[in-house]
Parts: sequence; structure tokens; C-alpha cells
Amino acid sequence: LVHAVNVHKSFGSVEVLKGIDVDVHAGEVVCLLGPSGSGKTTFLRCINQLEDIQAGRIWVDGDLAGYREKGGRLHRLTDTEIAAQRRGIGMVFQRFNLFPHMTVLQNVVEGPTLVQGRAKKEVTAEAEELLRRVGLADMSGRYPSQLSGGQQQRVAIARALAMQPKLMLFDEPTSALDPELVGEVLGVMRDLADQGMTMIVVTHEMAFARDVADRVIFMDGGVVVEEGPPSSVINEPQHERTQAFLSRLR
Ligand code: ATP
Repeated sequence: LVHAVNVHKSFGSVEVLKGIDVDVHAGEVVCLLGPSGSGKTTFLRCINQLEDIQAGRIWVDGDLAGYREKGGRLHRLTDTEIAAQRRGIGMVFQRFNLFPHMTVLQNVVEGPTLVQGRAKKEVTAEAEELLRRVGLADMSGRYPSQLSGGQQQRVAIARALAMQPKLMLFDEPTSALDPELVGEVLGVMRDLADQGMTMIVVTHEMAFARDVADRVIFMDGGVVVEEGPPSSVINEPQHERTQAFLSRLR
């Protein structure tokens, strides 16, 4: 579903991604691990076209991100076409980024009605079902400020799912939460994985990665250092840098 080849990204003169190759298959859950500054967030943002890349290609569900290939040449897509590509991807950030002036239900309904132009009645029914799935059926009339961080993050997940994405990107979704609220968000993500959603998750939650990920990718210094099933990468890391990173977490 995601096919990233030789992705390079620089901010000014600083090269943050130095040739990333990553494949993610439909239905797969991939956890991205790595020290702060290794480029994990930047890579997610490149997949979702929140960042331009300087070299390499990224395909999502067969579509080349940002470009059309014609007669061996690349043509930049229009903003409208890029927006359409991005609609297939749901993203959940460290901070919940809910609309503060809208209720929980309005937050979830907003995207499909406004962006996709779908009928409000149908979308509302779906939104209520999504809120039930994330355990917030009785919170639909509340405002974000009346919810805990964990509840807000679950609304953010429901809101992303309302757009019926093929792919979900999670960028450290629990790192801004109080420890006692982490479990409820990871639980929702685990359910989503069980239901077959394709997910790329940047996380420092090793237990989640070990239990839920089909594959773990360890990044450091803008390159993929090591990847494989969690049982090998987390339990028996081969590379010195992976070993050092994991031992610091213990
Ligand atoms: P963290 O776990 O801390 O989020 P990360 O692995 O996700 O780390 P990135 O956030 O991708 O790392 O950042 C990689 C590097 O790119 C960092 O050195 C960061 O300072 C730099 N960087 C990220 N975004 C920008 C930007 N918009 N402008 C300039 N430098 C940036």
C-alpha cells in the first residue's frame, strides 16, 4: 500500500532523511522506532505530503504522491489533486488538534460533510458509530475542553476514520498523555489493527510495538538501520545502534 523509494528530505542544508526505502502492505501494522531527531515524524509527513521531498518517490495505493508520470516525465499534480490524494490518509498527531469551538460529534462530522460533500444525516450516523467504537458514545455533545487528553485523542482517531482512509499514520499519539490515559488510546489503536487497518505508528511504546506491530522499523540519523518482526528487532536487535536505543528505554 505504501512504497517509498530512496526518500531524501532536507531542511535547508540539513539532510534529515537520507534515502529511506519502506514498503507497507495492505493490512499491515508497522511501528517506526528511533531516537529523537532520527526523522520519523518527517517521514510520516512526507507520506502525507505535508513535506516536499528532494529525491525519491512515494506511492500510496498505487498513486505516485504529488506527481503524474507521463511519457517518462514527472508532472506536478495540482493542489486539488494533491488534496484528493491526502484524503485517503488519516493522520493522528501527538497533539490532538481538535476544533475547540465544535462538539465532539461536529469534530467528527466536519471532514466528510465539508471536504467530501457527503450528506450530513448519513455522516452523522457513521460518526456516532465511530464514537461508539472509540468508547465515547455518550460524549458526542461535549466540547474538547471538557474531555481528558485520552478522550480527545480518541476523538481525533474517530475524526480521522470518518474520512474512510486506506492508511492511518500515527505520530506518537500517546506521548502527550498522562500515563494513566495511554492505555485507552493504545486499546483503540489495537482494535483498529485487529480490524485490518493499514497503520504506520511512530511510538516509544515498546509493549504496543511488540504486541501489535507486524513489523518494526528502527530509524537513526535519517536512515533505516534495521527492520523485521518485533520478535527480532526488539528482542534480538542485530545492529549496535538498535541495541543502544533499546537499552536506553529499559
Ligand atoms: P521526535 O521523536 O523528537 O519527534 P523524529 O525522529 O520524529 O524525532 P523529526 O521530527 O522527523 O524526528 O526531525 C528530524 C530532524 O529534522 C530534527 O533534527 C529536526 O530538528 C529537523 N526538522 C524537523 N522539521 C523541521 C523543519 N520544519 N525545519 C527545520 N528542521 C526541521
